[in-house]
Amino acid sequence: MSTVFDSGASAGVVHYQEAIEIIRDQAELLRRSQPAKEEVPLLDSLGRVLASPILADRDQPPFPRSTRDGYACIAADLVSRRPLRILGQLRAGETWQGPPVRSGEAIEIMTGAPVPDGADCVVMVEHTLLDGSHIRLAGDRTPHPGENIVLAGAEAKAGAVIVPAGTRLAPPQIAAAAACGYSRISVFQKPRVAVLATGDELVSIQDIPLTHQIRNSNSESLAAQIRLAGADPIVLPPARDHLGSIADSIRSVEGCGLLLLSGGVSMGKYDLVEQVLDSLGAKFFFTGAKIQPGRPVVFGHLPSLYFFGLPGNPVSTLVTFSLFVSPLLAALSGEAAGGPRFALARVAHEARCTSSVTRFLPAQVNDSIEGASVTIVPWQGSGDLASTASANAFAVLPDVDEALPAGSLISVLLL
Ligand code: AMP
Ligand code: MG
Repeated sequence: MSTVFDSGASAGVVHYQEAIEIIRDQAELLRRSQPAKEEVPLLDSLGRVLASPILADRDQPPFPRSTRDGYACIAADLVSRRPLRILGQLRAGETWQGPPVRSGEAIEIMTGAPVPDGADCVVMVEHTLLDGSHIRLAGDRTPHPGENIVLAGAEAKAGAVIVPAGTRLAPPQIAAAAACGYSRISVFQKPRVAVLATGDELVSIQDIPLTHQIRNSNSESLAAQIRLAGADPIVLPPARDHLGSIADSIRSVEGCGLLLLSGGVSMGKYDLVEQVLDSLGAKFFFTGAKIQPGRPVVFGHLPSLYFFGLPGNPVSTLVTFSLFVSPLLAALSGEAAGGPRFALARVAHEARCTSSVTRFLPAQVNDSIEGASVTIVPWQGSGDLASTASANAFAVLPDVDEALPAGSLISVLLL
């Protein structure tokens, strides 16, 4: 894919909504060119993005299909309550070999069988009374022509697009493709995403850290989020908080459309990532967003790839990936839509908002048939993975100076 960057780059700390719009604009630019395609067996296409539309190979259904076990007959005959003579039986996988159904006749029919010519309805077996070789309508309902029959081509005409290109394939689309005879599927190649953690305190997860050291959990969580987004993570060895170390690592990135850095984007003396990116010719779209956690997030592009500088605090990394990286990655993947998924839920307790920052707090969403409720989990801030591990969503608190009373409807960012 050729790289398409917007020339109108601007830097600075932006409002959450502005950050979303900047990323949406870049995602639209990316969608002007398509990723390369490949063919995979049907089941391997699960979670991939469809590159060529799935077309109906014949009318769906291919014949007028009975949707019930019952009797194929003429609706007006049933209404008259007269007994109808049963001519025979028709199972799914058979076609009626006799003459068309006439007035006063019925054919016992199973779900999925083709409705014989002449019949204009299927009456459910539960709604009939059997008397030897005859049936008649039970109860006081009035059957209508067309009842329990799906006409040939009513679901889709031969040649119609059943699943458009750009769709991420889930079980319903796999089923539709299988029904149309696709044993192999054309999908877009997965984007490769480079992951580079920075920080002198980091040790690998196999190591026993000294008291002042930290295991590099961000490379793992980012790789997991990249995989869930249907892309391939390329995890680089962490860089030290040193200009040369970070620059060498970035220069080593090859064959990736996107680079995710973690750590080193705050205001500390050893937060060097922006400086290094600048020295390598980066253009910045924003260098912070008014969100919490995740304020120091950086988005821009180098001459040949996009990058995000994600804050090192592990919860900030998780949130900023969901909010900002996932929509860009969807576009890089060839997906027509994509990005974070939100839902509405009633907050179970009062929730204090903060003016000027949109907050994303680890939370537990409980679904029930009456609707979803959300409880914010107590936490120690954006380094608190222990609390976040018990969350299944982030509660979204708007940037207002007020407390939302218990029962208020709020957005939740689903994980
Ligand atoms: P930074 O953004 O570099 O200022 O780091 C902020 C906090 O996140 C510090 O407490 C770091 O130790 C922690 N941190 C940075 N990078 C990682 C990482 N890769 N894995 C886990 N924690 C990290
Ligand atoms: Mg650091």
